[in-house]
Amino acid sequence: MTEYKLLVSDDAPAESVAAHRFGGRPLVARDSKVVWPNCKECKLPMLFIGQMMVPAHDASSQNLILIFKCDRESICSSWMPDKGCNQVIVVPVGPTMTLMESPSADGCLHSITYGAMVADSSGEDIYDAMKNYVEKTNSTFDKILGYIYGEPDWIQNDETPNCKKCKKPMRFVATLNEGPDPMQTFNFGTGEAYLFDCACGGGKFLWQC
Ligand SMILES: [Zn+2]
Ligand SMILES: [Zn+2]
Repeated sequence: MTEYKLLVSDDAPAESVAAHRFGGRPLVARDSKVVWPNCKECKLPMLFIGQMMVPAHDASSQNLILIFKCDRESICSSWMPDKGCNQVIVVPVGPTMTLMESPSADGCLHSITYGAMVADSSGEDIYDAMKNYVEKTNSTFDKILGYIYGEPDWIQNDETPNCKKCKKPMRFVATLNEGPDPMQTFNFGTGEAYLFDCACGGGKFLWQC
């Protein structure tokens, strides 16, 4: 049996609160130099997927991991970790946070906003752990957004990325699916996305289907 920390769809937290959230605007430090990323291929601003709140590698503080991807998959390689068609930005959580305003271009903000609570479950594999959770809580599979920590459940080959800066394999943060609403998904090609971060401050994102 493997223990999983499932991410379960929940009411959206206030945008100003540092918390797991999908959709809405990214939260950054008030004096932050973070800029909204543009896609390297189409040059247009990316879609903000959401933010995951995770402890820093030395566990001394919390970080928000901001996830962006280009939403123009028909022309851009958004699923690849190193093409510049998605972007992970790790920002420290501090006392004075502010929301980034999105560029005026279409496709920067997701159509719906929701939060995620963490629920423990266990099973022979992730599917079994999800099934156990759904049965125990009288919930539905579409409420489960993925899971955080542990090991990635690769659909294809292990693609754990190395950090560009420090060259080490990155830390697995979460596996994410397309979201709770089939009409308003993040479009990971009906697959799953994988989020990583590094002790030196970077992060990467990719998906498989
Ligand atoms: Zn693009
Ligand atoms: Zn690194």
